[in-house]
Amino acid sequence: MNRKCFVNVSDLAICQRCPALFAMKIHEGDKSVWSIGIQGNGQAYGSIFHKNIAQKFFKAAAHPENPLHLKIARSISSETLEETVRKNIFMPFIAENSQKFSSGQLLAMAKGVKIWVKAMSDYFINIPSLINDPVKNMRTVFKMPEQKLRSFYDLEGGRLVVVGCYDALMFNPDRAEARLIEFKGYSKSDITVPLSQSLIYAWLIYKITGIIPSVEIIYLDDADKAPDAFSSKNVSAMIKSGLPELFHAAFDIITLRRYPKILHDKKLCEICKYNQRCKFEIDKIFMRKKRLGASLISVLAFMFAAVLTISQVFFILA
Ligand code: SF4
Repeated sequence: MNRKCFVNVSDLAICQRCPALFAMKIHEGDKSVWSIGIQGNGQAYGSIFHKNIAQKFFKAAAHPENPLHLKIARSISSETLEETVRKNIFMPFIAENSQKFSSGQLLAMAKGVKIWVKAMSDYFINIPSLINDPVKNMRTVFKMPEQKLRSFYDLEGGRLVVVGCYDALMFNPDRAEARLIEFKGYSKSDITVPLSQSLIYAWLIYKITGIIPSVEIIYLDDADKAPDAFSSKNVSAMIKSGLPELFHAAFDIITLRRYPKILHDKKLCEICKYNQRCKFEIDKIFMRKKRLGASLISVLAFMFAAVLTISQVFFILA
């Protein structure tokens, strides 16, 4: 039987960290598992930054009707982009919301703006058409943020449909290249956590546009450190070597056709809330499936018997 299973990028990244945690999220609805093994202020803080600051910039840059569009265009050609972002996006946001954040978070966001604008400006150097005529070319370079992407991966027994929204995406029309930027509200503790998520977005972008983007990951809690950057070539190699196995593992866990791999990662398992009992919890999920299968068979058998009896009665009466 061919099955179609849906999964989002964040959950796939959990599967990459630990298949058993992914099983808890999918089958037990445990939403807290994403933060296991992540150090820092948390995802919500990263989302606040990209929703209120970065997203506002990308929307304005992609839309000529936006009141900020021309200001951004002028600052790209005069190299005053950081000042424009600070004055028109960051400061107004802080003026309205400063009481909601600690001073450490405000400082991290201010540093985040600096590092992110620098990362964008470095990328623009290789886009002469944008520097020479930003008004004409901004729409081609900046893509609307938070676009929902969807593609699929076919495997034996079914199809895994992957959905997700990237943070920010830029295209370089002069070189037919793209760059994906992801903002993280946690520390640069374990690169595999944000990288697996970015690689899946990169794969989605490739499936839709035919271009494998380079990837830049900005850590707001470590804004003093340079972002992690991966060339398109590296991204391509990592997609090929890592994603098929991840997609297969996720499909097997969603359909419960194979037992998820239990990690023996001392560092992660020791801080995990399922330490010493994840095998027991997974057994419970499989038992439930078995019981469900058995009751389904009895219901079907009962219905079949009922239909048979009714048809026999009709036959006798006829
Ligand atoms: S204890 Fe280890 S293997 Fe079990 S769910 Fe937690 S991280 Fe995964």
